[in-house]
Amino acid sequence: MKNTYQLSSFTLLLLLLSQISFAQRKAKPNPLKEAVIASVDQRFESLTDLSDRIWSFEEIAFQETQSAEALSDYAEQLGFKVTRGVAEIPTAFVAEYGSGKPIIGILGEFDALPGLSQNKVPYKSPLNEGNPGHGCGHNLFGVASLGAASAIKDLIESGEIQGTVRFYGTPAEEKFFGKLWMVRAGLFDDVDVVMDWHPSAETKTAVQKGLALVDFQVEFYGQAAHASSDPWNGRSTGDALELYTTGINYYREHIKPTVRIHYHIQDAGKVVNVVPDYSRIWVRVRDSSREGLIPVWKRVEAMAEGAAIMANVDYKVSLISGVHEVLVNRTGSAALQKNLESLGPISYTAEEQDFAKKIQEATGKPQIGLVSKIEPMEETAEHSMGGSTDVGDVSWVVPTIRLSATTAPNGTPWHSWAVVASSGMSIGHKGMAYAAKALSMTMVDLFENPELVESVKNEFKEKKGDYVYKGFVPDGPPPINSNLQ
Ligand SMILES: [Zn+2]
Repeated sequence: MKNTYQLSSFTLLLLLLSQISFAQRKAKPNPLKEAVIASVDQRFESLTDLSDRIWSFEEIAFQETQSAEALSDYAEQLGFKVTRGVAEIPTAFVAEYGSGKPIIGILGEFDALPGLSQNKVPYKSPLNEGNPGHGCGHNLFGVASLGAASAIKDLIESGEIQGTVRFYGTPAEEKFFGKLWMVRAGLFDDVDVVMDWHPSAETKTAVQKGLALVDFQVEFYGQAAHASSDPWNGRSTGDALELYTTGINYYREHIKPTVRIHYHIQDAGKVVNVVPDYSRIWVRVRDSSREGLIPVWKRVEAMAEGAAIMANVDYKVSLISGVHEVLVNRTGSAALQKNLESLGPISYTAEEQDFAKKIQEATGKPQIGLVSKIEPMEETAEHSMGGSTDVGDVSWVVPTIRLSATTAPNGTPWHSWAVVASSGMSIGHKGMAYAAKALSMTMVDLFENPELVESVKNEFKEKKGDYVYKGFVPDGPPPINSNLQ
């Protein structure tokens, strides 16, 4: 009895020792990950400068000429092979370094939003009244991704890893969804895995699907007449527009809670004493999945005919573009999660927390400051809500791993002056550097472990099933010079 007891204590001790040595092995730093962290730190100043320049360019969808050039030049100077003006989009580009497999891609956006120009202060104060502003933090987005790609480039250059790193300069995410045409052009066809991130008020692996979406335009054509002398000669496109939106708004009672319908009236006549003969409306329909979206889209589209019949006018429906919901890759996200846990949260100075709290005060939110603690990886909801992204389309052609990193105060409105302000100062810069580190560390995992790439791909294939991807894009070139601008 005593012997048995001694034996089990001995076994326990052995077990304990092996656990300790396992823990030590686990905690042992990966030199390549340390190297990418050092790369990002070493380039911090030039990355910050690049991000601030893009912030001050304030360029919107398809007009991001200076921003695309600044990012391309930065990559070219580091030795990347840059191909500008891809997919028939002057501001879309690809910067590549290395050769052979694996090919790991990373996405970088850089467009601003109209009307949000803002100074780097914690209260509303336009920098250039009426100009666009980086209310989604895309100035940080593009630069962090290029920073991550540059850190990987260093390792390929020194021969420590083999393969190709490819940065995608992806314009017009806020309007039109530029990635759709880049996917259509086959630019992602040979890529093994794509990394992506987005500025946020939290730091976590992004494992929700977002919403599928379609944008289309309805134009009504009527007959102008004097609004009082001979209104009987008029066929009003204003009437058609009102009847159309009334139809849409009645339909809201009969849609699923996952559906969203928005519209923006772009032209409703010019003056009160003329019966309008031309009207235009931009309609957007969303649902948590592509399958759910399509029947709602077709119904809202069909209502245009009903409105045209009632107002006795002609009509035309044109597809603008649309995006898929994201195909989430949990295998890849789990690798990213480990790197977030090893990096830990971003630390802030008292001044930064104070800046954040002032923004929260100015926008009527609880003054909790900045939140960057690393949460456990969430479950992926069957029907997630929130916004939509053209990263969704990339995720249906190549497995995509996504990150959210804190760049703005918690709880304050997104797409607002508050985000523009923090994206142009140290709070944003810290989030940018953090994202560059987390992304490049995960890319190290992908370059070092072919088995990881294989399991990421297997999950992708399994989830995609036999669906053959087809983007919601009309034939012909992207709408760079269309009347939609
Ligand atoms: Zn965004």
